[in-house]
Amino acid sequence: MLKKIEHLGIAVENIEESLKMYEALLGTSCYKLEAVESEGVKTAFLQIGESKIELLEATNPDSPIAKFLLKKGKGIHHIAFETNDIESEIGRLKNSGFELIHQTPKDGADNKIIAFLHPKSTDGILVELCQEKH
Ligand code: ZN
Repeated sequence: MLKKIEHLGIAVENIEESLKMYEALLGTSCYKLEAVESEGVKTAFLQIGESKIELLEATNPDSPIAKFLLKKGKGIHHIAFETNDIESEIGRLKNSGFELIHQTPKDGADNKIIAFLHPKSTDGILVELCQEKH
């Protein structure tokens, strides 16, 4: 079962500069900076109430974020839904005809395992499933 929107992922060109704006906007400080080498991204997390914002900056030109910025520019990149059973959600969504980018969960930022759905099966929105690592 999906529990809530865990975070919104936002593609930025320069994480330090965007952080200044988001920290001022939200009135809070970034609680974690983390690079995910396998995805070619640097991430920064801010928390506001129960919700989080994940800023994403590309660390190389082949990074999915670099391609997204070229195609669409800065802005909302993905919506992440939290689950406590990512394997069964992957199975449920596959059975319902959704196309998964990741057939099995992989390591993500912020102590999560994650899987992405292909935006062509979700009306153009990149959807992330995430589960806290135990
Ligand atoms: Zn995310």
